[in-house]
Amino acid sequence: MPDLVLPELGSLPAYVYDLGGLTAHTARIRSAVKGTELLYAAKANPDPNLLRAIAPHVDGFEVASGGELAHVRETVPGARIFFGGPGKTDAELAAALDLGVERVHVESPHELRRLAAVAGGRFADVLLRANLDVPVPGASLTMGGEATPFGMDPAGLSECLSVLHEAPWLRLRGVHVHLASGLAAPEMLALTESVLAWVRPWLRACALRPVELNLGGGMAVNYADPADRFDWVTYGEALAALREPEETFRVEPGRAVAAYYGWYVTRVLDVKVSHGETFAVLTGGTHHLRTPVTKGHDQPFSIVPAPGGPSPADRAPSPVPVLSGGPRLPGLPAPVPVAYDRPVTLVGQLCTPKDVFARRVRVERIAVDDLVVFSMAGAYAWNISHHDFLMHPKPEFHYLPA
Ligand SMILES: *Cc1c(COP(=O)(O)O)cnc(C)c1O
Repeated sequence: MPDLVLPELGSLPAYVYDLGGLTAHTARIRSAVKGTELLYAAKANPDPNLLRAIAPHVDGFEVASGGELAHVRETVPGARIFFGGPGKTDAELAAALDLGVERVHVESPHELRRLAAVAGGRFADVLLRANLDVPVPGASLTMGGEATPFGMDPAGLSECLSVLHEAPWLRLRGVHVHLASGLAAPEMLALTESVLAWVRPWLRACALRPVELNLGGGMAVNYADPADRFDWVTYGEALAALREPEETFRVEPGRAVAAYYGWYVTRVLDVKVSHGETFAVLTGGTHHLRTPVTKGHDQPFSIVPAPGGPSPADRAPSPVPVLSGGPRLPGLPAPVPVAYDRPVTLVGQLCTPKDVFARRVRVERIAVDDLVVFSMAGAYAWNISHHDFLMHPKPEFHYLPA
């Protein structure tokens, strides 16, 4: 896991993004998948500074709404944009054409008919999103291989062929799949092989050459073991070996690009024991960093002792935290709540038992005023969180330069 050198932080909580690390990481991914087009899925983190840092090292952006489309178009003018997502409105389909989207990933026969209608005489290039009946091994989230609202099963794909026949201004370019997320390279490759085994004969039957195959995102990020990274080199080499002449392969990861380069930095407000369990209450909460709740993991963190706080030499003799309160000798500083060598549950300021960053994780020492630095907070973190719940102040954002 990349180490963070904390910049000068004003108020906490704060997000810190390492744009230099992100840029180098994205460049490494691109060289590993050489020959395959690399898109960044903007929904993982659409922060404008991140998009601009990533842009020179990807072939384009995958957007999943009219909002993302307008945002990416404005933030990274001239970028190639690919528009997917279920439930596109007519206005969004029209915006796709107005803003020069390169490919529309069509999710249903009805959507394809609506695209034909809004095109108004313009050409539109489409990939059909397929939801195939293929085994999806070891995924954390499944978007296909079973009944889901995403894409089309083979019957839906066939129906699209007759729509396309009637609307020759819609140009079929190939197939899009995004069947699962949280797959390591071997599982991802096994899935890709099953997809190709189905898609290639289908496309041959359509007499379509050359063809584009967007193989989706979903490359695994292991929050329990941040050093366990998706093996881009093996994956890239295998894709190169699988690709046939007249095929363009495209991938569109989000999480595995951005997750490692964001940190959420907060401060310990309180340390207390309740029914035998030790809690550290932190400023902020999962309304800023919802990732551990949505994924059901402990967010990895490190503790930076507050300057002037209790040092290990002040180690409490008892196993319970030293809690403030009770009569004190005049002139003695109030004891600072601190816990040593025990499992601690890290929570935020929200009035809900779900506001948990990490549960019963053993720490050597945690005290009031210490900083807690959560790592792996660069993707599906701030932008998926319910910021306004309880109306706490929003975090500040800091960017380590590229
Ligand atoms: C969310 C999404 C992605 C990105 O998935 P990650 O797990 O962040 O890599 C790519 N393609 C589609 C269609 C998606 O919905």
